[in-house]
Amino acid sequence: MTEAGALAPTDAVILRRTPVGESDLIVALFTRDHGRVSAVARGARRSRKRFPAGLEMLAVLSVTLGRRRRGSELWSLDGAELVDDHRGLALDPIGLGHASYALELVRELAPPEAPDPGLLDHVVELWRALAAGPSPALLRGFELALCAELGSAVVLDACAACGAHQLGVGAVFDPARGGAVCGACAARSTGLGVRPLDEDVRAYLRAVAAVPLAAAPQIAVEADVRLGARDAMLGVITHLVGHPLTTLEFVTQVHGGLAGR
Ligand SMILES: [Zn+2]
Repeated sequence: MTEAGALAPTDAVILRRTPVGESDLIVALFTRDHGRVSAVARGARRSRKRFPAGLEMLAVLSVTLGRRRRGSELWSLDGAELVDDHRGLALDPIGLGHASYALELVRELAPPEAPDPGLLDHVVELWRALAAGPSPALLRGFELALCAELGSAVVLDACAACGAHQLGVGAVFDPARGGAVCGACAARSTGLGVRPLDEDVRAYLRAVAAVPLAAAPQIAVEADVRLGARDAMLGVITHLVGHPLTTLEFVTQVHGGLAGR
């Protein structure tokens, strides 16, 4: 029996934690049943009774939300139990950066209170795969899956503008138009991040999109193609988010001279 007004427990990941007052936390959550919500966890920083596992990032929690007051956007977080712990990823700065990048993308791109269980599954799939070691291929696979899940699938098999399957001479990759753009349509691709379409990059991204995420690091790829794929997908993500991502700066700093690792 749940207390009056409480909802059934649902799996969730924490997207952001913001301390409030002396003992409360406001958490941005992505939940399986309700999508992205903000909730206040009263006393979370003082007592561990209701939140024995703590309200940590990089873990799947089973959370119990209380109903909101009328007119408020803030839910109450009444309880949380640890379901699936990925906090070990934080031991490696690159793993932490990649795992946090996924959370930032969900925070920025998931519409509020729109249930999308597939999105939660993609995050957990990425975290599981990262346990075997960070790899840029995992980020590319996650980005492609996320875009598709959000209805903005990156177009790689045809022209994103006219649908032609023959891309022809002068084809470009245009993040704002959704992916590959054929030579005939390319004249109108003048926005940020437009680059000549590299056939090897296109083939690589298609290969990554076609396999289960955990298999993506096994796809053979030359360093310049890997970097081209990274730049193309970062163009897409930056276009969708509309501003630079903080975890990306962190990852870049950690990588230092190992750009694209
Ligand atoms: Zn076209």
